[in-house]
Amino acid sequence: MDLAKDVKYIKGVGPNRVKLLNKLKIYTLKDLITYYPRDYEDRSKPKNICDCVDEEETTIEAVACGKVVETRLPRKTMQKLLIRDETGTAIITWFNQTYLKSKFEIGKKYRFYGKINLKYGKIELTSPVFDEIDKKNNTGRIIPIYPLTYQLTQTTLRKIMENGIKEVAGNLKESLPNEILKEYNLQDINKAIVDIHFPKKLEDFETARYRLVFEELFSTQLALLALKNKTYNEEIGIEFDKNVHISDVIMKFPFNLTNAQRRVLEEIEKDMESRKPMNRLLQGDVGSGKTAVAMCAAYKAVKSGYQVAVMAPTAILATQHLENFKGMLDDLDIKSELLISGISKKKKEELLERLRNGERDILIGTHALIEENVEFKKLGLVVTDEQHRFGVKQRTKIAEKGKNPDVLVMSATPIPRTLALILYGDLDISIIDELPPNRKKIETFAVSKKLEQRVDAFIKKQIEQGRQAYIVCPLVEENEEMDLKSVEELYEKYQKEIFPEYRVTYIHGKMKPKEKDQIMLDFKNHKIDILISTTVIEVGVDVPNSNIMVIEDAQRFGLAALHQLRGRVGRGEYQSYCILKYEGKGENVRKRMEIMCKTNDGFVISEKDLELRGSGDFFGTMQHGLPEFKIANLFEDMDILKKAQRAAQNILLEDPKLENHKELLVLIDDKFHNRIEI
Ligand code: ADP
Ligand code: MG
Repeated sequence: MDLAKDVKYIKGVGPNRVKLLNKLKIYTLKDLITYYPRDYEDRSKPKNICDCVDEEETTIEAVACGKVVETRLPRKTMQKLLIRDETGTAIITWFNQTYLKSKFEIGKKYRFYGKINLKYGKIELTSPVFDEIDKKNNTGRIIPIYPLTYQLTQTTLRKIMENGIKEVAGNLKESLPNEILKEYNLQDINKAIVDIHFPKKLEDFETARYRLVFEELFSTQLALLALKNKTYNEEIGIEFDKNVHISDVIMKFPFNLTNAQRRVLEEIEKDMESRKPMNRLLQGDVGSGKTAVAMCAAYKAVKSGYQVAVMAPTAILATQHLENFKGMLDDLDIKSELLISGISKKKKEELLERLRNGERDILIGTHALIEENVEFKKLGLVVTDEQHRFGVKQRTKIAEKGKNPDVLVMSATPIPRTLALILYGDLDISIIDELPPNRKKIETFAVSKKLEQRVDAFIKKQIEQGRQAYIVCPLVEENEEMDLKSVEELYEKYQKEIFPEYRVTYIHGKMKPKEKDQIMLDFKNHKIDILISTTVIEVGVDVPNSNIMVIEDAQRFGLAALHQLRGRVGRGEYQSYCILKYEGKGENVRKRMEIMCKTNDGFVISEKDLELRGSGDFFGTMQHGLPEFKIANLFEDMDILKKAQRAAQNILLEDPKLENHKELLVLIDDKFHNRIEI
């Protein structure tokens, strides 16, 4: 048995079905058997006809009383069959199933499963599936329901799955060590994989799921912790100068640091002075003042004789950081410089030279920092901002430019602490859970699209008072061309139709960094009244005079993203507003808008987001450089997650390089492909 075998070799899979399976990202036998059901239907317990309840999916065992009768209707045909058990009779209705005319024998018993319809005292069963009484293909057992797109039917995938499972059942190699199976009371892999797809009883499914969820979370934890071990534990890092005090630079700030900022700075300073390389995540809501904290750490590093790299996800942000750093640190004789793609070759070479010979203390930039020709004389501290945009790999790569430098990762995506501890298994965590004082609450309104004109009037009023506004375009599928179109259309609408008297412009991700920077600068300097944008402004740009954030089609964004966007306003002295224009009436949409209006607390929002969306989106690969979970749900499976983390810690304590657990190396490798190198 070969798990890597192409699905096309599995019984029942022809060329057409290969394509459909591929659409579900099922390419190999292994992909197939790990395509887990999203739900189950218990079709094993028959009901008496007389006990049937309206609207309920029900199994009935009954005898066919006559032949199937077909009727022609305007655009379809209808088939009817009368059935009977000891307690009563029922009528079955199907549509467009002419072949059923010769399917049933009078007087023979069958098992049906379908939805009951009680009409004028008559019991009707619509479009049921069925088996002869001694067979259990579609009925008579618990049936898995898979997440599917319309082209592939449940019945087809179930048949293919049965064939796939038949091939692997009993032949799978146990992926977890015996000690773990025993300690955590986990089922063996062969039984688990059969039972997750075709449980005989619902309890079977619970047991199987527990094992599979455990395995998935355990391997993630193991990979993250092993990564942390490899990169940091064994190595000796830099002990920064104990005589350089962060408190000295704090005094130079034009404001008092919040208690939360002071607390995290203590944690950071302690890390920096210890010989263990710092590897810390700094979490704090938008506007909580993470940059100030980073500047303090940079000060300490530079004054201890080291260089600092600050990596931001966009050129705009990098530029803004440079301004902030220069504003604070230039006076202290600390020299910062910017590296983004798009600067001329000659300039870049000069810059790189200054960096190599140590004339520059701090290099701030984008991904460009990772490039090979960027060499430091003595890199001591790496700061990455908005870390969810960078993968684990990139983080490691930049750190490799120094000799075990300290690493500070900043994230404005607040996630519940327990979860952060686990997801960022490879990082220590500091949290800024307090905003600077005198921040006004951003008033948030969710407005149905029908009330657009009122929103426009509101914007007008604010602009007349000298304020500025952001308008964020609907989120389009990840497709830059569509993005472009939507931003241009919106621009036309606002500039030509609604606000011809104001200065409107737009910005999007495909523009050259220089162009974007110029626009942001113009906006900052109030040469623009309304800035229409794709989500490029999602991350940290600071324009205190801008106090309105309008988000078009807000229902398409996740709560975490909405919260991030909202954080762009409320940075100045003016009362700020966030207007969520939305469409759609779904319960979920309504709930999400309500949460946004009710709270400004990023931690609360992230928790709700997790609850409403499950873990799938929120913790997608894209955002965190982590693999997607196939079966685990981080919200519901928190308990298992904790156990799995403990198990992973214990194993690594005993066997840090997993030399005695080769099977686990395979497991990690498998789960992460090449995304994490251990
Ligand atoms: P973020 O955490 O989103 O990166 P920033 O570091 O950009 O937040 O800070 C947002 C704004 O708040 C900046 O203008 C900064 O100067 C200001 N700020 C930071 N800390 C304080 C503080 N303790 N008191 C007052 N203002 C502060
Ligand atoms: Mg920031």
